[in-house]
Amino acid sequence: MPKLYLLLGGNLGDRIGYLTQARELLASQIGPITKSSGLYETAAWGKTDQPAFLNQVLELQTALTPEQVLQGINQIEHELGRVRQEHWGARVIDIDILFYDNLVLQTQRLTIPHPQLHLRRFTLLPLAEVAPSLTHPVLGISIDDLLKNCPDPLEVRLLEQP
Ligand code: AMP
Repeated sequence: MPKLYLLLGGNLGDRIGYLTQARELLASQIGPITKSSGLYETAAWGKTDQPAFLNQVLELQTALTPEQVLQGINQIEHELGRVRQEHWGARVIDIDILFYDNLVLQTQRLTIPHPQLHLRRFTLLPLAEVAPSLTHPVLGISIDDLLKNCPDPLEVRLLEQP
């Protein structure tokens, strides 16, 4: 079964509670979770006048296609009451597809690997915890090396071990 890497993030309300609910819905609707990173806290990216984000990376196995995964995570975001107010604005839960096996895909709705993953410390740090030697299929560089060379100045702090 294809291996899927997802980034979960949220900065509103009971952040740990929303992440827990999201993991439960993902496991039942997308596929079994095979690895989970710890929870990392980061000051908000792009817009700094809002609460800090909690982020977590999950590895799952899924029988769904990438489009079906996108549909599923959109439903889960909706179910958990995400209010889509502004780009980079506050949200209870945001779920991004980082990798789907070695697939490279660009459609109107979906870009895989996620186009910003190599630029963001809050993605690379939890991803390096679950898949340090995974090679980015476009850049040809391991997650560990991407993290070592990541210029993102935002501090990312481990809040909770998995
Ligand atoms: P956002 O505001 O970051 O949650 O953007 C969500 C939208 O980005 C989705 O509805 C997708 O159509 C699009 N998108 C493109 N690539 C990805 C990806 N790798 N993971 C999740 N959403 C994506």
